[in-house]
Amino acid sequence: MIRKFLHKVFRRKTTAADAVAKLRIIPLKQHGISRDQINACALKVTTGLHQAGYSAYIVGGAARDLLLGLKPKDYDVATNATPEEIRAIFRRSRIIGRRFRLVHVMCGAETVEVSTFRGPLTTDNDNKSSSKHTDQHGRLLRDNVFGSQEEDAIRRDFTINALFYDPTSEEIRDYLNGYRDLKDKRLRIIGHPDQRYREDPVRMLRAVRLAAKLEMQIDLETAAPIGDLAPLLQNVPPSRLFDEMLKLLLSGHALSCVVDLRARGLHHGLFPMLDVILEQPMGERFVTLALKSTDERILQNKPVSPGFLFAALLWHEVLSAWNTYQKTGEKLLPALYKAMDETLSIQHKQLAIPRRFDAVIQEIWAMQPRFEVRVGRKPFRLISHPRFRAAYDFMLLRCESGELDSELGQWWNKFQDADHDEREKMLIGPTPAKKRRRSRSRKKTTDSSSTEVDKTAQEKSS
Ligand code: ATP
Ligand code: MG
Repeated sequence: MIRKFLHKVFRRKTTAADAVAKLRIIPLKQHGISRDQINACALKVTTGLHQAGYSAYIVGGAARDLLLGLKPKDYDVATNATPEEIRAIFRRSRIIGRRFRLVHVMCGAETVEVSTFRGPLTTDNDNKSSSKHTDQHGRLLRDNVFGSQEEDAIRRDFTINALFYDPTSEEIRDYLNGYRDLKDKRLRIIGHPDQRYREDPVRMLRAVRLAAKLEMQIDLETAAPIGDLAPLLQNVPPSRLFDEMLKLLLSGHALSCVVDLRARGLHHGLFPMLDVILEQPMGERFVTLALKSTDERILQNKPVSPGFLFAALLWHEVLSAWNTYQKTGEKLLPALYKAMDETLSIQHKQLAIPRRFDAVIQEIWAMQPRFEVRVGRKPFRLISHPRFRAAYDFMLLRCESGELDSELGQWWNKFQDADHDEREKMLIGPTPAKKRRRSRSRKKTTDSSSTEVDKTAQEKSS
C-alpha cells in the first residue's frame, strides 16, 4: 500500500513516463508496407543486426513517412545492440554524438543512423539524479541511458514517430496508439506536453514543422502549452536552433510553418524581428514571397540556397538600419555595409547562422544598389558577376513586393536576353562613347552616387 502510494507520488518526476504504453501489433495486411519498399541500405543494417542476434527496427520519420505514402528523407534504425556492438558488426560505421551516442552506418554514399533503445533517465524515486541530467528549466542535458523497446517508444516525441517496423516479420509494433493518430492525421505528443517541452523546447518547433509537412492537426492538449513555454527556446543552444530552423525552412512548407510559428508566439528569438517585419505590409509581402518561392522550388525538386533564404528573411532589417544610417549622414554604400554588418552580427548570436553563409548573404545584399545603375559598362559587369543570378532573383522579389518599380525587373529581364547591340541601346543615359568624350572634356566627374556605388561595391567584394 505504502509502496503503491510512493510510486504514485514519484511517478510525476519521471520523464515522459505518464504515457500509457500498450503494445499493439499491426500486421502487413493492415498497414501494407512490405519489406521490398524499404531502402536497401536500411535493410542491410537491420539484416546485419538480426544475423548477429539483435533485434532491429525501422523507426521514426522513415516508418511514419512510408505509412503516409511519402518517400522517407532518411532512415533511422533502433536496436537492442549497444553502440560498440553495432560498430563491431559494420565495417563502415562510426560512433557519433555525446549527448546522444549513436552509430552511423555507411553504404555507398548513404548513411543510416542506428541508435540503441533509450530508457528513462531517472528511477522513480531517484529525484536527485534527475537534476543532474537537466538544467533549471527541466531541459535534458544527457540522454544516454539504454532501455527496452517500450521505454524507447515512450521517450520519443510524438506518437506517430514511435512506430517500429520490423522488416523480418513485416509487422509494426505500436506502443502508444501512433498508428491510429497517423490515420486520424493527429499530431500528439507522448506524455505530459508541458514536461516534454521543458525537457526539450525544440519539440515545439518540431510540432509546427511536422504538422505543416504532414498536413496534420496538432492535438489540442499538445498545442495548449506552446504559447506559454515559447520563451524556453532561448535556453536551447543556438546551433541546435539553427539546425531545426533550417529543417523547417527547407521543409517545402516554410510559409505555413512561419505563419503558424507566429500564431503560436514561437518566432521570438528565432528571427527576433520577424514580427516587426511581418507587421510592415511591405516586409510581410517580401518574406511571404521569398518563402513561397522557396517552397515551390523544393516541391519541384529544384535546389535552394539557404544563404538566399536568410538574405531574404533579414532584408527588411537591413533596409531599416540602412535608412537610419543614411539619415545620420552616412553615404549610401557605407551605410549599407554598416547595416549589413549590424544585422548579421545580431543573427550570429541569436540563431547562430554559420559564418559559411555570410559571403553569399552579403554579396546578394551588396549587389542590390548596382541594379539601379543602368549606364555605361556597369550593367555589363554586373551581369557577368558569378552571383548575378541569385542577386537578380532577389531584386525581382523586391519588385514583386512593391519595394522597387517593376519596370526595373522587366528591364533586367530584357537585358539578359538581348544581344550585345540591343543591350547597348537599352542603356539609360549617355552612351559609353558619348560619355567618354564628355568625361575627357570634364576631366573628372564629381557626380555620382552610381560611380560610388559601383566602386565601393567592387572594393568590398574584392
Ligand atoms: P524528418 O526526418 O522528416 O525531419 P524525423 O521525425 O525523422 O523527421 P529526426 O530528427 O530524423 O526527425 O528524428 C528521428 C526520430 O527521433 C523521430 O521520429 C523521433 O522518434 C525521435 N526524435 C527526434 N527528435 C526528438 C526529440 N527532440 N525528442 C524526442 N524524440 C525525438
Ligand atoms: Mg528522420
